Formats: sequence, C-alpha cells, structure tokens
Amino acid sequence: MLLAGNVDREVEISGWVRTKRGNKQVNFIALNDGSTIHSIQVVADMALFPEELMRRVTTGAAVRVKGLLTASAGSGQTCEIQARELEVLGESDPEKFPIQPKKHSLEFLREVAHLRFRTNIFGAVFRIRHAMAFAIHQYFNEHGFFYLHTPLITASDCEGAGEMFRVTTLDPQNPPLDENGAVDYKQDFFGKATSLTVSGQLEGELGAMALGKIYTFGPTFRAENSNTTRHLSEFWMIEPEMAFYDLKDNMDLAEDFLKYLIRYALEHCMDDLKFLSARLQEEEKDKKEEERSMELIEKLNFVLSNPFERLTYTEAVEILKNSKPNKNNKFQYPVTGWGVDLQSEHERYLVEKHFKRPVILTGYPKEIKAFYMKQNPDGKTVAAMDILFPQIGEIVGGSQREEEYDKLVARMKEMDVPVGGMSWYLDTRRFGSAVHSGFGLGFERLLLFVTGMGNIRDVIPFPRTPKNAEF
Ligand code: ATP
Ligand code: MN
Repeated sequence: MLLAGNVDREVEISGWVRTKRGNKQVNFIALNDGSTIHSIQVVADMALFPEELMRRVTTGAAVRVKGLLTASAGSGQTCEIQARELEVLGESDPEKFPIQPKKHSLEFLREVAHLRFRTNIFGAVFRIRHAMAFAIHQYFNEHGFFYLHTPLITASDCEGAGEMFRVTTLDPQNPPLDENGAVDYKQDFFGKATSLTVSGQLEGELGAMALGKIYTFGPTFRAENSNTTRHLSEFWMIEPEMAFYDLKDNMDLAEDFLKYLIRYALEHCMDDLKFLSARLQEEEKDKKEEERSMELIEKLNFVLSNPFERLTYTEAVEILKNSKPNKNNKFQYPVTGWGVDLQSEHERYLVEKHFKRPVILTGYPKEIKAFYMKQNPDGKTVAAMDILFPQIGEIVGGSQREEEYDKLVARMKEMDVPVGGMSWYLDTRRFGSAVHSGFGLGFERLLLFVTGMGNIRDVIPFPRTPKNAEF
C-alpha cells in the first residue's frame, strides 16, 4: 500500500471496501487495494460526508480516499486515514455481491473464482504465486541459466508424460478422410496431427545441448481424467535442462532450487504466510494433537534446515513392504514387491511417517519410467530422481537423460516410440552428445506446499479440470 514513513502526511488511496461499520458520528471503512493482506482503516467523520454518499460505501465498492495518515489508536493496526475526501468510483450491490464479509468455504469461492481475488485468502495465495514465479526466474538468472520458450503445440505424441489434447482446425462434423477411412490430418492446419504439449523437456534438451543450461517455465496440458487435489488439466511447469550434469548434480540443483524458493517466500511473503498459517491453525484446532500438521512457517523452515533424504527406489520398496500400513493392509495399493509403481499414499508414508523430511528417490525400474532416462549398468533401473514432499507426494520428476545413441534407440524400439518422427531429438546424440540431466517441477504443487492450501484448484487463478473450464 504505502504507508510507513507517511504518517502525518496527506495520502491518497484507491481500493475496495472490505467492511464498513460505525454510527451516526463516525464510520470505519476497511479498504484494501490488493497490494498487501492488510486493509487500511479509513475513518470518515460523518459531519464531513453526506449520508447519501456514505450509503454507497458498501462491501465490494471501489472507493478513492484522500486524507491524513495518522498513527492509529486502535489495536491491530499501525496507521489509519482520516478521510478528507471520499469518492465512490464503482458501487457494489451489497445484496448481490457474492463475497460477504464472513468466512466462505473454498468450494463456494471456486464457483465465484472471478471474484475470489477479493478475499484475504486468495489475495495472499496469488501474491505468493507471483513472488514464486519471480524467484524462479531470479534463481536461474543468478545461476547462468537461459529462459527458453518451448512450443505449446507439438506434433510428437511420445513425450511420454500422459494423454494429450488434440489441436485441430478440421470440422469435427465432417473431417476429411484418407483412403482407409481414417481422419486425414495431412489436410489439417499443420499438415499433421498436433496436440498441446505435456512437457517442454524434449525441446529443452536441444537447447541445453548448445546453451549449456536452460529452463522452461510455461503451461502444460494433460488430458487425464484424474480428479485429485494434486492434478490439473492445465498446469505450469518449470523444467531446467543442463548439459554436463549427471544425476547427482541434478539432485543437488533441485534441492538447492527448492530451498531457495522456500527461503524467498519466507523473506518476502511473511505477512501473507502468517495469514495463511493462522487460517490453517484455526481449521486444525478441533483435530487431535497427533493429527495436526506442522505449523506452516515452521514447516517451511524445517524443510530449509534439513538435507533431503536420498535413497533408491529399491530401498524405498523394502521400507514400504515392511511398513505397518502395508502389513495391516492399510494401503489402497499394497506394496507387493520390486517393480510396483509408487502411489501417492506410499510417497507420503515415506516422507511424513518414515523419514519426516523431503525424500529424493533414485534408480526406478525402467519399466515404469520414460524412454529417455539414462539406463543404469544393472540393465534393470534408470537414473531417475523423484522428489517427494510432505502433503504433496511427488513435486519434482527428473532424470539423467540417455545420451548414448544406440541405447536410446534400442529403448525407444522396446517401448514402441516411433524413432522416425524423433530424428530431431536423436540428432543431439549423433552430434556432440554429452551427459546431461534435467527435471520438472510442477509450479502449482510447489504453491500447495508453500501456501499450505489443500487443493490445487485454489493455487491457480482459473483451474482447468475434467468437466470444468469456467471463466
Ligand atoms: P503424478 O505421478 O503426480 O501424476 P507425473 O509423474 O505424471 O505426476 P511428471 O510427468 O513427472 O508428473 O511431471 C513433472 C511434475 O509436474 C510432477 O512432479 C508434478 O510436480 C507436476 N505435475 C504432473 N502432473 C500434474 C498435474 N496433472 N497437475 C499439476 N501438476 C502436475
Ligand atoms: Mn513423475
């Protein structure tokens, strides 16, 4: 907002009315301009302003105020404005305005997502979202990475990360057909079938194999019908790719990067974090002591001050197999043995119950990972690394990339990845190949962790999920 340093000066502020209370002599207006969680109290002496004007100052209205900034007598705020001029810029019908001055459920606020920015909680979340985006660029810029824009429309359907949304200009009622009766994408806009990207990695690798260190930061799209609190159909991903980095370098970078972002939040977003923390504490107060989660700011500091636990998939499966919930059949997906894909419940057990800190798992079975991951000498595992966080499960997925041409092609054939259409990708392995690595961090998963919010729909302004593309 302004303000410290301006006490006893004339100030002007425009914002939206959160609440108004008072009597015939004086009205108190809580005004918020969106710049911070703190609303400023405007004191309106009713002798100065016509009643007709003050009636239009309702929750939701846009108002401009000029007046003297004074040290406040009231508790809980340091300054207030003694209004000398007050103008209603835009009225708001208090009967119809959906955001009432009371606590709304997050579910309700999702239905009015176009207005939920006006609440304290979403103001806090989206200011933190901005700060994290800024910190991501700052981190990479400070560390010699180049921001590379990889395409959102792609013709390769083998990025290996999930179901894709088709991009086409063909008439769905009457698409052109080829001689076999199949849709003839040669006549489509790009002359071939295209989709929205599920990851910028493959193109990112091409950039890294010339610029050294690059990162992408953009939207990705997955047409999977996963209606969970951790999946969006459109989400933002950060994908660094580094030439000459092996798996260990990759892990070190990812850990340093995540800690930098958390530290940045603690240093720059404390007011918003305190608000979110208090809200969470309030929600948890009815829970039993042992079911309560760690206080938000304490949790962020805790992650900063402890090294992430690093172990192999094989070691993790042993722990899970012998774990209490597995033996007592408490897992929805029992851990039967080596080779099973780990579910979110397993990841969270390792992080929250067993190690009580973030975990980096490496050396996954090649069968459950993508074709481009570096094949380990054992012939069974790949140099993958997933980072698992409390409350989230997987927050980062990455690997050392297979840089040997013959091994990569052999693996692609085994996995039915069309080698022909991927010659551009393989060329980096033909001309000056080198060890290289990278990872993908889901931006909204990071925000879930930093804000403590429980549903990924509440950390992106306008969530896209199955059967929902509102606003
Ligand atoms: P999950 O197993 O949790 O579905 P994934 O293994 O399919 O994730 P990757 O392909 O490894 O995900 O993507 C890299 C990162 O992107 C993940 O670690 C996660 O942080 C994020 N991510 C993946 N899918 C989604 C999604 N649908 N919505 C939001 N973030 C996602
Ligand atoms: Mn993954």
